[in-house]
Amino acid sequence: MSKLKRAPRGSNRGTRRNPKLYNLSIITQRVLNVKLSLPPILFFLDEIQRFEPKRESGWINSGLCPFHNDRNVGSFSVNLDSGAFHCFSCGAAGADIIAFYRLKYCCDFMTALRDLEGGAGICQR
Ligand SMILES: [Zn+2]
Repeated sequence: MSKLKRAPRGSNRGTRRNPKLYNLSIITQRVLNVKLSLPPILFFLDEIQRFEPKRESGWINSGLCPFHNDRNVGSFSVNLDSGAFHCFSCGAAGADIIAFYRLKYCCDFMTALRDLEGGAGICQR
């Protein structure tokens, strides 16, 4: 007889046994769904005043920073691949559209995720 333990059927490296890991994998999937359904270029067109992307990828410098009293285009940059953003005037920065949403609307991660899912038309179970 083999001494090797066989993994239970349908197990996904212990995620079923550990509720925290299981929830984490669901949240990761939801984040990926939001990022796939909501391209940064469309997201920032809605969220940033005077945002005029001249191309569709990489870092672009456009629009007014929503995090300080910005009057001239020039200090705010976004990355159209990842959704990262950075303002060279006030220092506001983040790695993706969820970070942008949290900062702009002062909410926690799960609220931002839920709102963005709603905006992208993703149904939740
Ligand atoms: Zn700023």
